[in-house]
Amino acid sequence: MKDYYLILGVNKNSSLEEIKTSYRKLAMKYHPDRNQGDKKSEDKFKEINEAYSILSDNIKREEYDNGFDNRINNNNFDFSSFDIFNDIFNFKKKKKKKIFDLEISLEESQLGVSKTLNIPLDKKCFLCLGKGFDKNKSVKCSNCLGYGYIVQGDSFFKIKQTCFNCEGKGFLIRKFCKQCLGKGIIKLHTKKIIYIKKNVEEGKKIPLNINDFKESVFINIIFKNHPLYKKKRLDIYYNFNINFVDMILGCKKKIKGLRNNDIFFKIPKLSRDNDVILIKNEGLYTEYNKGNMYIILKTILPKNISDKQLKLLKKFKKL
Ligand SMILES: [Zn+2]
Ligand SMILES: [Zn+2]
Repeated sequence: MKDYYLILGVNKNSSLEEIKTSYRKLAMKYHPDRNQGDKKSEDKFKEINEAYSILSDNIKREEYDNGFDNRINNNNFDFSSFDIFNDIFNFKKKKKKKIFDLEISLEESQLGVSKTLNIPLDKKCFLCLGKGFDKNKSVKCSNCLGYGYIVQGDSFFKIKQTCFNCEGKGFLIRKFCKQCLGKGIIKLHTKKIIYIKKNVEEGKKIPLNINDFKESVFINIIFKNHPLYKKKRLDIYYNFNINFVDMILGCKKKIKGLRNNDIFFKIPKLSRDNDVILIKNEGLYTEYNKGNMYIILKTILPKNISDKQLKLLKKFKKL
């Protein structure tokens, strides 16, 4: 396995900020635009991007630290679709990238889900063909007589200046397009059904194929807060309320897992408040990893008590 830390000139304890800084420097140095046709630089560039794609991602970095190899296949490396690079440098792209957040539940992330999206996208205004105004209703600029510029000076020395009156257009807009209100662009809501595969990672960007629009669209997966389960990376924490008698006597319990499964577990007798029961491999799954579930016992004391129960407790105290 390659040493990504070495490739980026950082070490295992480096912060994300340090990694970013180092990556930026190296990527600038070896970017193919600056090293036209240099195969060595190109390879180096791929290598540092590969390293950065792993070390900049908390989950992937941890997996890598634990000896897990999930690098991008070098042969299929495609610069045009490389998100991280575009994110950092904001290079000019053919299409504007638009990212929409999509919230899904933890269960949906584990089982897979299809969602219908209604995406607002920019499209060239069909009425004015993107110009933003009605050409027929515009009038010729009287200052430049429609040329858009003015020539000043004499036959020896001439200066051509953009017309201040029409800003070089040669005409004055009298009527903005009523469809796009002069912007030249309209928002169109496009329906799209997206299928999210099971075990999707939070933060994953899924490209949507939408033709004919000015933007390329990505869906950013976000996990909703769960009513019972708190997540920490792939692990799940569950504050489990249990009455004091069951804590003392011990018992068996059943809860619903994230994958529509039943989880059975035993609470040992004489358990104490905040005792933790580990249930392996019942946390979140990703394509390559499995988290655990931690059940934290929380004792509940009764709000009401019957005379009979009270009597028994008094008897218990005397024992
Ligand atoms: Zn003019
Ligand atoms: Zn228009």
